[in-house]
Amino acid sequence: MEGRLAGGAMLDTLTAALREVLSADSVITDPVRLRTYECDGLTYHRATPGVVVLPATAEQVAAVVRLCVEFAVPFVARGSGTGLSGGALPREDGVLIVTSRMRRVLEVDLPNRRAVVEPGVTNLAITEAVRDQGFYYAPDPSSQQICSIGGNVAENSGGAHCLKYGFTVNHVEACEIVTPDGDLVTLDRMDPGYDLLGAFVGSEGTLGIATKITVRLSRVPESVTTVLAAFENIEQGGRAVSAIIASGIVPAAIEMMDALAIEAAEAAVACDYPRGAGAVLIVELDGPAAEVELQFARLKEICSGAFELRVAADQEERAAIWKGRKSAFAAVGRISPAYIVQDGVVPRTALPRVLAAIDRLSAEHRIRVANVFHAGDGNLHPLVLFDDAEPGAGERAETVSGAILDLCVEHGGSITGEHGVGVDKARYMPRMFTDDDLDTMQLVRCAFDPRGLSNPGKVFPTPRLCGEVPGVRKGVHPLVESGKAEQF
Ligand SMILES: Cc1cc2nc3c(=O)[nH]c(=O)nc-3n(C[C@H](O)[C@H](O)[C@H](O)COP(=O)(O)OP(=O)(O)OC[C@H]3O[C@@H](n4cnc5c(N)ncnc54)[C@H](O)[C@@H]3O)c2cc1C
Repeated sequence: MEGRLAGGAMLDTLTAALREVLSADSVITDPVRLRTYECDGLTYHRATPGVVVLPATAEQVAAVVRLCVEFAVPFVARGSGTGLSGGALPREDGVLIVTSRMRRVLEVDLPNRRAVVEPGVTNLAITEAVRDQGFYYAPDPSSQQICSIGGNVAENSGGAHCLKYGFTVNHVEACEIVTPDGDLVTLDRMDPGYDLLGAFVGSEGTLGIATKITVRLSRVPESVTTVLAAFENIEQGGRAVSAIIASGIVPAAIEMMDALAIEAAEAAVACDYPRGAGAVLIVELDGPAAEVELQFARLKEICSGAFELRVAADQEERAAIWKGRKSAFAAVGRISPAYIVQDGVVPRTALPRVLAAIDRLSAEHRIRVANVFHAGDGNLHPLVLFDDAEPGAGERAETVSGAILDLCVEHGGSITGEHGVGVDKARYMPRMFTDDDLDTMQLVRCAFDPRGLSNPGKVFPTPRLCGEVPGVRKGVHPLVESGKAEQF
């Protein structure tokens, strides 16, 4: 109680200081408005932030962080709050730094194929700023209309077209960041020495806050062919995926949906996929017209087992094919009162075995699972459906969801492909990493954030080192103690 009062008093003093560096409407303390920020896209985890700030400039972000350091108060960055692992879950004893007022495209440099943007700019807005000149920003999370580029950088987000073009990390040239000490520094891909930019991308807000991002722009391809292939069952679809990759074709995207996911998409957006399909495959080929033509001819042969093959004749038909896939997560809300969006990775060759095992789990626990996945990357998004009004159903869904991650790890994959670890999957990290592995990662975190103030409680499962408990780490790091590493 005493601690809470002390913490509350500290937050009040900090809030008064925040009002001195930010305009009055940029500091939110009204309890009703604070609740708007209590969760991200993973609504299961909730916490009302102590204070929310809406800085308009990098200097303001730096000033806020410096005050947090002065008062030893933790802070969490938030973009659009679409994250699916609770990465932007606020702290009741901390400050939530929201970048939604930092939405300017600062510079477009087409000869060098770059744009410099503020972190609150949405992913799609970057493409919209350059599309007329024949360019676009390649990583395309399904949430691209609303998610922020700052969030994309923090999560190293992917999307349907990342199979050919790579994830966010491959499209970020530089980042201006506010370090957890409150300094403004720039990390550039061209910097010699350690790839600190590489370390920052995907660090989920634990190594500082991105305030300016230089992204790579790509040329709109000369030709695009989008194909929808309908198969009787998921095994046939899976075999087609392996055959496409084995043939040497690298499509821009290969996405798969199973019967339950199709049913949901039909209910939500009437995407008019072929009736009776046990699985649909969306394959997009792009590049020079002659190359796409050749690849398409080969693709038709490979997909000869499909009972229907649709080819989009124009942009409208392409959008119609993508509509079902892009709406898939939200669509399951039409066929189930509640659901968990899982995210795991398996080697492509293990897909049929893992999907069969998911089927068995589903039957054993009486929990339906709809499968949507970036098939080319082996990135699964099982949607675990349950009725939260039914006693025990939520627990069974959690069991199935966790067991799916075990399957991914057992088959040499990962507990996350693109949604990050956040607060939700921190407990699964020991399934992939030993204590020593995790301690080594924490050394990196401690090097950036020795006080453990930047998004504490995320990514790592246990409060073993400095990153988890706000305040300077005490004691010697186990790796240092054992002579395996030196503390810098
Ligand atoms: C319907 C739906 C579809 C989705 N589809 C995809 C998909 O296809 N691919 C994919 O990868 N993800 C997908 N996502 C997940 C989500 O959209 C991405 O993780 C996205 O990058 C989050 O961006 P955001 O702005 O909403 O970040 P937030 O949710 O606000 O934050 C996410 C994390 O980033 C940190 N952060 C935010 N801004 C900054 C900053 N400026 N500096 C440092 N850290 C920061 C936060 O602390 C948090 O840890 C989907 C989500 C939804 C709801």
